[in-house]
Amino acid sequence: MRKKLKVFVAGHKGMLGSAILKKLKKKNIFKVFYETKKNLNLLNQKQVDAYFLKNKFDIIYLCAARVGGIWANKIYPANFIYENLTIQTNVINAAHKSKVGKLLFIGSTCIYPKICRQPLKEEYLLSSKLEESNEPYAIAKIAGIKLCESFNRQYQTDFRSVMAPNMYGEGDSFDEEKSHVISGLIGKIYNAKINNLKTLSVWGTGKPIREFLYVDDAADICVKIMNTRKEVFNKLVKPNLSHLNIGNGIGISIKKLALLIKNIIGYNGKIYFDTSYPDGHPKKVANIRKQTTLGIKSKTSLEKGIKKTYHFYLKQKFK
Ligand code: GDP
Repeated sequence: MRKKLKVFVAGHKGMLGSAILKKLKKKNIFKVFYETKKNLNLLNQKQVDAYFLKNKFDIIYLCAARVGGIWANKIYPANFIYENLTIQTNVINAAHKSKVGKLLFIGSTCIYPKICRQPLKEEYLLSSKLEESNEPYAIAKIAGIKLCESFNRQYQTDFRSVMAPNMYGEGDSFDEEKSHVISGLIGKIYNAKINNLKTLSVWGTGKPIREFLYVDDAADICVKIMNTRKEVFNKLVKPNLSHLNIGNGIGISIKKLALLIKNIIGYNGKIYFDTSYPDGHPKKVANIRKQTTLGIKSKTSLEKGIKKTYHFYLKQKFK
């Protein structure tokens, strides 16, 4: 029997990390590793080095990150830049030192300029100024791409980067301060429904356009990208432009999204927009040509994904 590949999932408790972990565990070819924060502090280079050198992993999924919606980015900019820079630097550097075969770094389409041609092509990175609301987070993610690229260029490592749109699904945070828009709106609209509120205010103008990717689809895409042979993957990227957009390439306005969630939850009140809250990027929809060239597609419609997420919300609320 072939020896199983040793895979480490960094950030296995997060929404994407846990979905990837679930998928990998189903495949018989992998021996999957993960650690709690208490056992392995990813902010500590010495601990990460020792752990990686001891285990000699074949594959690493770097999902560990400080993440959050527009409000969390506004309140905790220092955490967003410091923790992301430190975790990714420690993990990528230790992966190189311990001769890891392959690593996947997860970023987000917020790395692209605030005002940018759409759909967002990989080459638009660093072509103009970033959006202020999540600049510290975006700078960390851009540094992560450049770290992977630089190790690849200098040491011929196989460190890949994918940029995801707004993800949502099971395992999301519904905390008002931290959540992204879908989970935030599910919590607020459900509350408005059970409290019979006549009106509900939603942040911003409702005009921004976002692309949403259901977390199970995101996990599936990540695993497929990692299973792609190096020669095939490298045909799609360049030494100085190595990241790949993932997603479905479909945009929807926040207003339409709010109405869709309202219908799914069955709230009859009126929604209005509170423009004292920030909008963030006017539009973020990715060009996913490189992903589709690999024959990889997302499966879940937005409506179906929101229904599943709402179901998860209710289940954890009443468990
Ligand atoms: P972004 O893509 O980084 O801006 O991430 P978010 O998911 O946090 O926000 C997306 C858009 O939804 C922004 O324009 C927000 O102002 C808007 N939005 C409307 N209501 C909410 C809410 O309850 N929570 C969040 N996070 N965003 C909201």
